[in-house]
Amino acid sequence: MRSIRRRTLCWCSVLLGLLVWALSDLFNGSTRREAGGTTQRIPGPPGGSHLMVQFRHAALELLADSAPINSLQEDQLLFVGSTQGSEKPPHEKKWGYKVLKAAKKQDAMLRDQDVSLPEVRPPECLEDMYSESLPSASVVICFHDEAWPTLLRTLQSVLNTAPKDFLLELLLVDDFSTHDELRTALSEYLSGVNRVRLIRSSKRLGAGGCRSLGASRASGEVLVFMDSHLECPSGWLEPLLERVAQDRTRVVSPIMDVIHWQTFQYNATQWPVRGVFNWNLDFYWESKAEQPDWDSDSALEPVLSPALGGGVLAMDRLFFHHVGAYDPGIVLWGGEHLELSIRVWSCGGSMEVVPCSRVAHVHHQHRPPKRFPDQEQLERNKIRIADVWMEAYRKIFYRRDTLAHFIRQSESPNITERLLLKRTLGCQDFHWYLSTVYPQLYIPQDRLGLSGELYNMASGGCVDHRPGHGGAMIIAPCSGTGSQHCELNSQGEVRWGPTGAWCLDAIEGRVALSQCASHRPIRSRLQWTFLKLSGQLQHQHSHLCVEAVKASVPPSVPPHGAGDLFLRPCTPHPAQQWLFEQLVSP
Ligand code: UDP
Ligand code: MN
Repeated sequence: MRSIRRRTLCWCSVLLGLLVWALSDLFNGSTRREAGGTTQRIPGPPGGSHLMVQFRHAALELLADSAPINSLQEDQLLFVGSTQGSEKPPHEKKWGYKVLKAAKKQDAMLRDQDVSLPEVRPPECLEDMYSESLPSASVVICFHDEAWPTLLRTLQSVLNTAPKDFLLELLLVDDFSTHDELRTALSEYLSGVNRVRLIRSSKRLGAGGCRSLGASRASGEVLVFMDSHLECPSGWLEPLLERVAQDRTRVVSPIMDVIHWQTFQYNATQWPVRGVFNWNLDFYWESKAEQPDWDSDSALEPVLSPALGGGVLAMDRLFFHHVGAYDPGIVLWGGEHLELSIRVWSCGGSMEVVPCSRVAHVHHQHRPPKRFPDQEQLERNKIRIADVWMEAYRKIFYRRDTLAHFIRQSESPNITERLLLKRTLGCQDFHWYLSTVYPQLYIPQDRLGLSGELYNMASGGCVDHRPGHGGAMIIAPCSGTGSQHCELNSQGEVRWGPTGAWCLDAIEGRVALSQCASHRPIRSRLQWTFLKLSGQLQHQHSHLCVEAVKASVPPSVPPHGAGDLFLRPCTPHPAQQWLFEQLVSP
């Protein structure tokens, strides 16, 4: 029975691989089309549905007579305060972009634009309290097929806001873009702009490789890596430079606010926030609500961050090279900042988010983790992180990401040089990282027979979680991907999900998820016993057993549940018989 199921799982994985491959082709086409400057839709005033096209041509035409990109006035930022409710909710307001003044020199033109972003920093941040002798900065902006107006807007907002005294240069690195205007008009467009240098790569380097290239050409004391779709309010650079100047091994990020790519809604990120990741090696920004134990309450003090995203990242240039730049084995996109983060911490540096600096990131339509074209590559990048940096802890990752496991079984990454670097720099191991830098990450026990997919004998399905339905658990087809992995630990909790922060709970007779207790003793409501002989999963508090009950109406919301999970008096019925199945051998 189990061997049949295992074979089915293997086939499922092969089929899944094919599906991902087929979808990637499909999505590849559509992403490319979307990313093209000519077809991306930016909402304009009524009747202006072809705004982008007009915009781009307008900019190109204007180029001829050295006039500014004055269509920027068309776009508007709609300010939306944090949904979680900040202390002083900023009032809703429309923020427009003023028209650029015509200027003779393009440099002046690029600097003249007046961009108003909503002010969400505490007033103390705005007082001029920065040393006048901050280190010089090289801003490195990589782009691959970025939409023309977005790229120029990013460039302009950096030039408008970074003080001349500190901004030594802005290196724009073209990572082998295919769009015509980026390949041709851009060089001409930038030729008269002071401090801006355009570097073109002759092959696709990927986000990390491209940044390493920019860094190798930079001469500023501090490197400021930035995405090609950002809006910077004034005063964002100084706090970052100051923190790096105080400690050259410090790597810092502003608070990243979010601008919706289509509506241009501005969403302020609530402070405090820090960068973290889960056992699937996915990076995310974590707010205080997700981490109740967090003790930072200061609005002005930077917080240490186990990881940082790459939207804006400032670090000492020599330290960047010392610590091994970006891992050249991380290809295209995905995981490069997480790899850098673990490396920086493990090899003598630190990371923090600086609240007096804010920059807004324009999210595209196809945001990760749904960007299929690079899915397999993303897995390979994660495999590198696991194999270079996680030692025995990497197994926790492979159990939750079986696609990575299967890729790893058929190919070995060449990580010799990175392991050598790790040794040469005398880096700490992952145990040190987890206990010192990120002690909040739950470390699963993954005991054999008590962890894996929770398979139900009667329905042939596995326990799953239907997102957005009050944490209710369901029975769904077994995924085989590791997405349904859970574990019964020695404290009697059934931990669910890649952070392990969610626990099976009994709520009104149903099985649902709630946040696991962060302190001992654990409430008995969150404790379960697995009766190995009968295969029953018993709730310790009520002594009831988990039963899979067929759904009367097939739910329309994916994942399509085949049943719901109830707590019922224990009976020896297959609907109450469960098996923890590990997909990946320990
Ligand atoms: N990028 C690049 N080459 C690539 C992929 C990305 O130069 O192969 C650039 C991209 O244009 C952007 C930055 O790297 O400026 C980060 O990429 P993206 O914004 O897609 O990543 P995310 O913000 O989602 O982490
Ligand atoms: Mn980005």
